[in-house]
Amino acid sequence: MQNGTCGRCGKSFIRPERQRGPLERFWSLLSVYPFRCQLCTHRFFRFRWNRRHTKSWANNDRRRYDRLNVNFPLTVMLDIARTLDGEALDLTVRGCAVQSTKRLPEGLLVGLRLRPSPHEPPIEIAWAVVQTILPQGFGLYFASIDPADEERLRSHVESLFVATAATA
Ligand SMILES: [Zn+2]
Repeated sequence: MQNGTCGRCGKSFIRPERQRGPLERFWSLLSVYPFRCQLCTHRFFRFRWNRRHTKSWANNDRRRYDRLNVNFPLTVMLDIARTLDGEALDLTVRGCAVQSTKRLPEGLLVGLRLRPSPHEPPIEIAWAVVQTILPQGFGLYFASIDPADEERLRSHVESLFVATAATA
């Protein structure tokens, strides 16, 4: 995470991102680097004096989002009749890792219900894709989320960033 705010949502949880293509590499000579808002997913460019640090940091790392450690129950909807219960291990606004003994094939489309709080209705992810197979389960990419659920997901991720910053 770096200092600065997102030009779209105004929040201050931004992260340097890998440069794409020759134009962005040219901009980096002028100390202008790409960043990604960790909440609203907006990608934008900012001037940074500390060129060497930002450049190496972003280019050795293809991730777009910092993963937040979590531990809450979730349900994967395999189809209308079959569900699979698991635990979320990490979370971003665009995906999560699921702890499960069940193996799902890469590329499988599923529905998802996240339950970060027992006092609130689950956050529904309309479509998620099995993106990676992990030793302890699998990683899901959130492909489609209704706006109201996306807003709740964002505010949950924001509260996790605030909590992380407070303990750092
Ligand atoms: Zn933003």
